[in-house]
Amino acid sequence: MSGRFLDSPIKYLKGVGPAREKILKQELGLNNFEDVLYYFPFRYIDRSKFYKISEIRENMPYVQLKGKISEMQTIGQGHNARLTAIFTDDTGILELIWFRGIKWVKESINAGKEYIVFGKPALFNRKFNIPHPEVEELSVVKASLVQVQLQPFYNVTEKLRKANVDSKGIAKILKGLMELIPNNITENLSNELLDKYKLVSREDALRFIHFPSNVKHIQVAQKRLKFEELFFIQLHLIKSKLIRAHKNKGVAFSKVGDSFNVFYKEHLPFELTGAQKKVLREIRQDTGSGKQMNRLLQGDVGSGKTLVALMCMLLANDNGFQSCIMAPTEILANQHFEGISEFLGEMNIKIGLLTGSTKKKDRKVLHESLLNGELKILIGTHALIEDTVQFNNLGLVVIDEQHRFGVAQRAKLWQKSLIPPHVLVMTATPIPRTLAMTLYGDLDYSVIDELPPGRKSIKTYHYYDKDRYKVFGFIKKQIDLGRQVYIVYPLIEESETMDLKDLTDGFESIKRTFPNPQYQVSIVHGRMKAADKDFEMQRFAKGETQIMVATTVIEVGVNVPNSTVMIIENAERFGLSQLHQLRGRVGRGGDQSYCILMTSYKMTAEGKTRMKTMVETTDGFKIADVDLKLRGPGDMQGTQQSGVLDLKIADLIKDEAILKAARKEAIAILEDSEVYNAPGNAPIIRELGRREHKSTNWSDIS
Ligand code: ADP
Ligand code: MG
Repeated sequence: MSGRFLDSPIKYLKGVGPAREKILKQELGLNNFEDVLYYFPFRYIDRSKFYKISEIRENMPYVQLKGKISEMQTIGQGHNARLTAIFTDDTGILELIWFRGIKWVKESINAGKEYIVFGKPALFNRKFNIPHPEVEELSVVKASLVQVQLQPFYNVTEKLRKANVDSKGIAKILKGLMELIPNNITENLSNELLDKYKLVSREDALRFIHFPSNVKHIQVAQKRLKFEELFFIQLHLIKSKLIRAHKNKGVAFSKVGDSFNVFYKEHLPFELTGAQKKVLREIRQDTGSGKQMNRLLQGDVGSGKTLVALMCMLLANDNGFQSCIMAPTEILANQHFEGISEFLGEMNIKIGLLTGSTKKKDRKVLHESLLNGELKILIGTHALIEDTVQFNNLGLVVIDEQHRFGVAQRAKLWQKSLIPPHVLVMTATPIPRTLAMTLYGDLDYSVIDELPPGRKSIKTYHYYDKDRYKVFGFIKKQIDLGRQVYIVYPLIEESETMDLKDLTDGFESIKRTFPNPQYQVSIVHGRMKAADKDFEMQRFAKGETQIMVATTVIEVGVNVPNSTVMIIENAERFGLSQLHQLRGRVGRGGDQSYCILMTSYKMTAEGKTRMKTMVETTDGFKIADVDLKLRGPGDMQGTQQSGVLDLKIADLIKDEAILKAARKEAIAILEDSEVYNAPGNAPIIRELGRREHKSTNWSDIS
């Protein structure tokens, strides 16, 4: 019954005729009673407090005043018409102004009577006015039995407002709905959870969130509804993970053999960090279980992810399986190949490199040795997923810098083996834990949160354009010491000709300041042909050029340990995570490295915070936290298709504690069939089923 209640179309609500039904659907996506009940106010205003006109200051929120309205007059005509009135109390005078609904307002106000006026004061010509105030006759309000104290405010669109549905209109519709809800809202949490977390019932929460009698009501309602929201998202994520684990049998890496051990004991030139060891243990447990691993490995630039990946590939090899590692660019693939060759040294393990520029003849040889199983580790780019690439027995796929690859591409790699290989996705973009829990809640998740010892922390400075000559002087000194320098320009839209001009102007000026033949300057940008780009990158990597002028194409993974200076031009135009990625291009060798952020004086407050954060910390997770706070989850990488954006009430920044509790409880219920089937949990399971049935857009992210 109650399921049907929530599913009832909104046309059955008081005050919702066909026209409103259409516009509420269109503008706010409100189709049924449930949608309306879960359309929460974004704030409340205390209507019990009255201000005096003399107390009004600039930038005040909504205020409520008591006084007389007089001298109403219409000024102008047609589109430009406005209605003004004088409002007075015993402390002063201000003007009320209406630009819309003039006729109606004029008719409904009795000049000379006492009114309650409610609105947001604005300053114009050094005098305060209130545009579009709500007005109510004092005697009428006094006579009415219900006097709202905390008035809910709902977001509405311009179109809705034009159709006369403003925040108050939404509140009215909800008021009508409230009369229908007693006995119609079934609880969807267990009594156990309600008790444990001291949550109010679903019905109370829905009443209190819309029509609270006091502030406490708002708090308890929010707590309950946030928990509910996060809990069902986590249930969904964890359930998909369990289903996948159940469905996808995996190859079992049951033993640790010679190649792993010999490498570890004889070839590893340094001690693994604690974090690397921890992650390796997690991966070994996963891959040994007989279930397919789907793990996200997060670790800041330089934290040693590649090494962890290599050791996993050795583990695969010990168990008779091939593995591959896929990088987003040819340069990175080359670097991995060289790095891994060096690590493995004399060990007798055959590895191969496959990229777009691998020659046809070499390709053929590679294909053959892959198919007959001779080749153990394949390193490459997108070229790996071509159909012609066939493995003998692929057991592990490593994907580096995950966000460059689409889901479909990943799926293609899976299909290269009868039993799907284990998948390890590596990313250097730190994301806050709360976001990871929601975004990647259905993946296993490991973090390397520790850098190898002895790293020199990169020094970061913020300079203004006028200090450019100082900066040039600094570059010269570093080059004299034999070091190399990046100078990066923003080019967010590769098509923006303005940006390209900035870049080429910058390049010309750098060449003038650092002339041939003493200095060699490279340039790389997205409009260049891949081969030309590669050629310049290689020149820089080999040390043939000292300065690399570039756009963000160098952002991902490039490793030139001899470069010690990263100059970022127009740094205020970059987001925090991008700045952090760029900075990660230096500090890769033993020498002290520097990051210099160049900006103009004109910066937004947010821009200033970004510069300050970069100067103060090199901790990627801290930076990600600030980023989340500045931008909200909407703009964070990867959130677009994740459903995180649809959160109605929970806040990933503020509600970490609730999120953790919700996830813990979701795991407890799903991982034990006895708990799952316990009668007390029936409301939860029923709701989960209902939601899964309803929603088709809970996208899988792995
Ligand atoms: P990431 O891929 O996480 O950015 P890499 O795997 O490329 O980092 O490692 C960065 C550098 O640190 C490499 O030169 C690597 O050999 C080195 N490295 C990795 N692990 C350690 C460790 N435990 N101790 C010292 N150096 C390490
Ligand atoms: Mg890397």
